[in-house]
Amino acid sequence: MNILGSLLRGQKLRRSVVAVILLLVSVITNAADSESVPGEYLVKMKETSGAMKLKSSQQDLSAHLGAHIKNHIKTGNLVVVQRASMETTVSAIASLKQSPLVEYVEPNYIYHISKKPTQGDYPLLWGLHNIGQRDKDGTVGKEGVDIDAESAWDITTGTDEVLVAVIDTGIDYTHSDLVRNAWTNPGETGFDSNGKDKSKNGIDDDGNGYIDDLHGYNFSDPKKKNRDPMDDNGHGTHCSGTIGGNSKGYQGIIGVNWNVKIAGVKAFDDSGNGTTEDSILAIDYAIKIGAKVMSASWGGGDFSQAQQEAIERANKAGVIFIAAAGNEGSDNDKKPTYPANYPVDNIVSVAAIDNQGNMAYFSSYGAKTVHIAAPGVNIFSSVLLGHHEAWSGTSMATPHVSGVAALLASHEPNLTNLQIKQRLISTARALKGLSGQVSSGGMVNAYNALTKNTAEANLQ
Ligand code: CA
Repeated sequence: MNILGSLLRGQKLRRSVVAVILLLVSVITNAADSESVPGEYLVKMKETSGAMKLKSSQQDLSAHLGAHIKNHIKTGNLVVVQRASMETTVSAIASLKQSPLVEYVEPNYIYHISKKPTQGDYPLLWGLHNIGQRDKDGTVGKEGVDIDAESAWDITTGTDEVLVAVIDTGIDYTHSDLVRNAWTNPGETGFDSNGKDKSKNGIDDDGNGYIDDLHGYNFSDPKKKNRDPMDDNGHGTHCSGTIGGNSKGYQGIIGVNWNVKIAGVKAFDDSGNGTTEDSILAIDYAIKIGAKVMSASWGGGDFSQAQQEAIERANKAGVIFIAAAGNEGSDNDKKPTYPANYPVDNIVSVAAIDNQGNMAYFSSYGAKTVHIAAPGVNIFSSVLLGHHEAWSGTSMATPHVSGVAALLASHEPNLTNLQIKQRLISTARALKGLSGQVSSGGMVNAYNALTKNTAEANLQ
């Protein structure tokens, strides 16, 4: 069974839960009501007493909370604790909240990548340049329903100065499409002068707090000694290809950016599942390495104060956070989904459209809370083992917007994250089918964004 087949199998195992927008679920079948890691909680410590207590002794804190301390996320003043898994979520949270040191407690939710698997491949990048070609399903495209990449590339094809963090299942940095643009941490050791691979020397060479983070970091499996962000699903690689694939003239795809740097920040496992904890660690890491854009093609967990605070830290650091609106086909204004719906200014929520400019049947929407649409049906891009496939989902729409954000940042490096967001929305190309579906009423347009052309947004 191939990867997609096994993901689909996983989908059938999924329990019915509230606010799960995505398809790819295979673990945690014993969660009680909502999907979270059994027995695990994120505990926000009060700034004063909590921080003091944490420094003094983890053993004291463990005894005080009646829980094993699994992790300490200093940036968020959070501890991740494990309680007896027989205990109900409600009683565990009530018990933890009794501590005067605790500000809030929440389950360690599970989030999922936002891809809708569609198999097969057909090498047509209609999202970048739509000449009315058929997509993988044989649907004839509508000419011009694309992000206007060819016109944009006359102005810029991007720069290596802009770093995009793809918070996902990792990145296959050996894929011929991605070798050129995968980020390499200049302070970490790679190959020595004799050509010997020293990338896993077990040393935090650049002293940034992360050992061997040569191309990014793997937060998704704490049991793994190896923190290599190599993709084991394909999803993060597919998204990366859309943002910045560049096969240097060999057979392969081209991304929105010909030149860019993409760090694989792995927060999702080979089945496409990740926790609140993993996502927070990933966001903080991406801030640390200087990402300008974070691309988040996932969602479906419950509201998490701790996750929102991590995105607020990213906002403060000047990062734009591009998030998938979700694949539930529902109205996010009425039924919020996270992270896309957090009220943080740097978030851009992205819906998916097909090659005729219609909202994809699976795409969530929202006149207020979803900002912009982008190509997300039968998108051809890089996957594992050097291959290419056409996939669908708001997962595939999101990296088109992340790519345009990076292109814009390369062209106008002084723009703030909020200015980039404003530009993307104000220069979206209006499409009839998107009126009342997304706040901009349109799809992302790279050329308009670079040229500040707002005329098309006002056509309707
Ligand atoms: Ca390091």
